[in-house]
Amino acid sequence: MIYFDNAATTYPKPRAVYDAVLRAMTEAGGNPGRSAHRLSMAAADIIYDCRCELAEFFGCSVPENVVFTYNTTYALNIAIKGLVSRGDHVLISNFEHNSVLRPVAALASRNVTYSVFDARGSTVEVLNSIKSLVRRNTSAIICTHVSNVCGLELPIAEIGEYCASRHIAFIVDAAQSAGVRPIDMRAYNIDALCIPGHKSLYGITGCGAVIFNEKYRESYIPFSPIIEGGSGVDSLNIGMPSLLPERFEAGTLCVPAIAALLAGMREVRRVGIDKIAQHELKLKAKLCELLSEMPEVELYLPSCDDESRPGTGVVAFNIKGKPSSDIADAFAKRGICVRSGFHCAPLAHKALGTGPDGAVRVSFSMYSSENEVRAFATALHEIIAEG
Ligand code: PLP
Repeated sequence: MIYFDNAATTYPKPRAVYDAVLRAMTEAGGNPGRSAHRLSMAAADIIYDCRCELAEFFGCSVPENVVFTYNTTYALNIAIKGLVSRGDHVLISNFEHNSVLRPVAALASRNVTYSVFDARGSTVEVLNSIKSLVRRNTSAIICTHVSNVCGLELPIAEIGEYCASRHIAFIVDAAQSAGVRPIDMRAYNIDALCIPGHKSLYGITGCGAVIFNEKYRESYIPFSPIIEGGSGVDSLNIGMPSLLPERFEAGTLCVPAIAALLAGMREVRRVGIDKIAQHELKLKAKLCELLSEMPEVELYLPSCDDESRPGTGVVAFNIKGKPSSDIADAFAKRGICVRSGFHCAPLAHKALGTGPDGAVRVSFSMYSSENEVRAFATALHEIIAEG
């Protein structure tokens, strides 16, 4: 089997991740933060270690500002619905996933309006697009770091600098970049960073996090959670605790998934994110070279002439005149896993001009190889010949 659907979730995971999940279940099987017995304390220790290492990895000096969620989508909902107030205006990019677009659109019920900036082109062009749309009541810019459709990287350092200069909150969707592109919340002026555990940090499905900037130093955030429930602290209070992280962590956390995230992140750090990124980009370049030799193939590569924004190992394409779902099925019959359709990102498909059926997406991980890329190209030749 060739697995090229890593932008959905990475597979396989490092051996240490499988071991960590089993260990969490056998040696830390209590409910974290609820009791003082050994199994509960062991679970709480895993969570705390993961909080500390995530905070350090992403440039936040306050581990309590790491709030665990179930995935990136929950993290984005907490940040967006919290940091944006009634009547505000916000900006999003034209490469957003539905986990940004839908919560932002839903805020229409609170009279929140939004505009869409163009993330294609040079950094100056992207910033100009943003500046042309900012209004007096713009309170937040919410954008993906890297597109899940084509791997385009947005200039988040520069957008963050602009946000800080205008006192605009900056919320970053790092679903595709956490673990494969450097992110420093402090340097990039990010207010809330939303990450998954299960993609390039090589954890399993079931957990993600929103990390609030360390400027929220009092570990207090004035806005409301989106879910209320038990938190293991302040039980006599009918309201949610005011402190991070408990304010946003209602109910029992998924300890095995957090253990997996911790083990995956350690593996990423051991290998080195630069090395992983270079490997994936080398495969992307090879695949693009092979695809561009096939006249039947249409490649969707947005222009970005900035070397500091190389993006990630994601490639979108079509065989002209063939539905992307048929192409993905033909690959699946050959034991090759790719994803077709719109990838929950209709704005990105519109910007790329992929047409009525979306596109086929190939996405690499640190375990993908050049031999697999060659085998993929051979299979594509066969599929084209089949008509
Ligand atoms: N944002 C982007 C750019 C994504 O690619 C994804 C998932 O593929 C998400 C958000 C949602 O992530 P999750 O499935 O962890 O909620």
